[in-house]
Amino acid sequence: MHPLHNKTPLVFSKEMSRLTGKAVWIKMEVQQPSGSFKLRGIGHACQVYHQKGVKSLICASGGNAGLAVAYAGRQLGLAVTVVVPQTTSPEAIAAIKQEKAIVKVYGKDYQEAHDYAMSCVTPQQPYVHSYDHPLLWKGHASLIDELKTAPFIPDLIVLSVGGGGLLCGVVEGLMRNGWNQTPVLAVETQGAHALALALQVQKIKALPHINSIATSLGARQIAQKAFDYSQQHPIFSHVVSDLTAVNACLRFYDEHQLVVEPACGAALAAVFQQHPILQGKSNVVVIACGGVGSSLEQLQQWQLSLPIE
Ligand SMILES: *Cc1c(COP(=O)(O)O)cnc(C)c1O
Repeated sequence: MHPLHNKTPLVFSKEMSRLTGKAVWIKMEVQQPSGSFKLRGIGHACQVYHQKGVKSLICASGGNAGLAVAYAGRQLGLAVTVVVPQTTSPEAIAAIKQEKAIVKVYGKDYQEAHDYAMSCVTPQQPYVHSYDHPLLWKGHASLIDELKTAPFIPDLIVLSVGGGGLLCGVVEGLMRNGWNQTPVLAVETQGAHALALALQVQKIKALPHINSIATSLGARQIAQKAFDYSQQHPIFSHVVSDLTAVNACLRFYDEHQLVVEPACGAALAAVFQQHPILQGKSNVVVIACGGVGSSLEQLQQWQLSLPIE
């Protein structure tokens, strides 16, 4: 079946390459129809449910996952309900409604919205998780398959981590393409550093709360599979401040004229900072995971108002 996501361009970053002395390539997930990589995995999951005869889906997310489920559901002719927490912006709700999904506002945070959505699940209306499901990872892995046609072999992948769905998909993709040695630099913002915490204590542990503007990284704990992969694959964790992530978004905008969320800026920032892992690498792929949750004006406002480290 034809996937719902696009093959995305791999764009050479002149600025990042000049800065680091490496060939740095950007995988433009920001150009997916739903604005983020999420459509890869979520689109795949929705297609599988559709093939099984399911007629409606439910998910919880006021962000890019909700939008991806709404988009995929509409494409497939499925009824979609998106449960969003009370903190969700009117713009995000409008974007989800534009894809003809039903929006239910419930709970003070993602966890409460998630719990409510789970209570609505029936065999006819399955739940689409935003990061913790094998169907999602399988779909996300297509991103790595696309790198096979590039004129080089990547020797480092840089990405952002929220709950670790993208990370699991990328590692699955590396493994299924025989790139088991290719390291992954997994970047989070301070205050949403659930992977860093898990690696520090060597088990899954929940952050007491999320304290970062990078709301798309706001899973309090990572998926078990992400932790398991960290024990099997070279995964390096890195944490940046909110301001560093925002500055990276603005630098990215200057070069590419594309607006991405701070969640995405986190990964970009690691390259701008010239993270030591770049040493000895030649071809670096940074995943610009995208996100529709911020505007240029908001990025500029954050740049002025966020505390300097
Ligand atoms: C969902 C999302 C992330 C985090 O992805 P996980 O799979 O939860 O790790 C990062 N950036 C953007 C823009 C997202 O939408």
